[in-house]
Amino acid sequence: MKKQFDFPYENILVLGLAKSGTAAAKFLLENGKNVCINDLQATENDVMIQELTKMGAKVVLGSHPLDILNNVDIIVKNPGIPYHIPLLKEAMERKIPIVTEIEIASSITEGAIIGITGSNGKTTTSTLIYQMLKHDQQAVKIAGNIGVVATEVAKDMTKDEKMVLELSSFQLLGIESFRPHMAVLLNIYEAHLDYHHSIEHYEQAKFNIFKNQEQTDYLIYNADQERIATAAKLSNATLVPFSTKQKEVSGAWTDKEYIYFKNEKVIAIDEIVLVGEHNLENILAAVSVAKLNDVSNESIQYLLKHFTGVEHRLQFVRKVNERLFYNDSKATNILATEVALKAFNQPTILLAGGLDRGTEFDEIIPFLKNVKHMILFGQTKEKLKMIAEKAEKSFELVETVAEAVDQAYKHSANGDVILLSPACASWDQFKTFEDRGNMFIQAVHKL
Ligand code: ADP
Repeated sequence: MKKQFDFPYENILVLGLAKSGTAAAKFLLENGKNVCINDLQATENDVMIQELTKMGAKVVLGSHPLDILNNVDIIVKNPGIPYHIPLLKEAMERKIPIVTEIEIASSITEGAIIGITGSNGKTTTSTLIYQMLKHDQQAVKIAGNIGVVATEVAKDMTKDEKMVLELSSFQLLGIESFRPHMAVLLNIYEAHLDYHHSIEHYEQAKFNIFKNQEQTDYLIYNADQERIATAAKLSNATLVPFSTKQKEVSGAWTDKEYIYFKNEKVIAIDEIVLVGEHNLENILAAVSVAKLNDVSNESIQYLLKHFTGVEHRLQFVRKVNERLFYNDSKATNILATEVALKAFNQPTILLAGGLDRGTEFDEIIPFLKNVKHMILFGQTKEKLKMIAEKAEKSFELVETVAEAVDQAYKHSANGDVILLSPACASWDQFKTFEDRGNMFIQAVHKL
């Protein structure tokens, strides 16, 4: 049985269309609400605009005139639109609530929402949770960044289904009554500060994930991050901590040999394909959610023995003659490449380079300990060459990722890791980091 659509507003302004705004507008119109759409980029010729107009939407394009706020009860805002634009400032003056599309999704569905947020690891953890539940034959759907818009998923969901929903802080800023049955708070790093202005503001957005939770809900959180652990204590939800550093009897933890949930051994670490300390945190979070959903240990084990990583995120590609190839094309900055390098103790051949954003790469030097050779390409190859020289590493410069793979193989020995982790965006040579990663995978399969 589906839930009665319980949304106590009649006149709704959908600000910014994109995928989530379109889904929200459609759903609201289908449910008899008065909807005004305001978008800067869309034009009257867009098929979507024509469709929404036909459905009864009022459409205002190209600017944000303040008078569209007259009679508006609530604004459903695209997460990317900043709060300081005059229209939203005016809306706040007038005390018009401003939410994002997840608010609609949660008021549609009676199925349980499993929300995942954090600065890093959201996609990996969401994917792990989804696949564990799915492997255990549970009725589960994935929504948000990786999957379909949450509203689209929610509208067809029944009471027994679960939705795994990846949540950005931008989405979480705009909530009123959004209440996930399980909330996962992975970590908070000082990212996105340009939008959020201060770390407190950014934290608050992340902490919103549990603000409406009650005791029958669960908050799964990273107990190793002090500020998160402190904030979690304020939550009404049942607390489920996870830690890579200490035993957590009410959650998931590891002694670096096994992963435990509460006092039960779940899997041996050396059976897990995913590498890296950071992924261990993602796994502990995912195991907690799986266990709380009664997923069997067999299903968890099966998954962790076969899950090679989300595409382009330290993804294990293939073993060729005892050489291990990893695709970390998503590493578009130095920090991500450092995280990847930390994951390996084996001699590593690093493939790096890409768009030059004017940054220097000196910070990476301490992480090159296990790197035996560097193969450099793209706009930054000369800069990275200087780093190789400073770090006294052998290196070579190539033109393409395919050439880099061939050269890496030539320089490699049994047991080596060959890692694409570029530390740069891909736009100098590729349309997307996915294209770059796929090029790498193709070349590896040709060996
Ligand atoms: P997100 O969806 O939050 O961007 P992903 O799962 O896509 O996160 O991972 C992106 C990158 O973030 C990874 O390639 C890795 O460099 C880093 N990362 C992933 N998980 C963690 C974590 N738990 N802690 C720190 N860094 C992480």
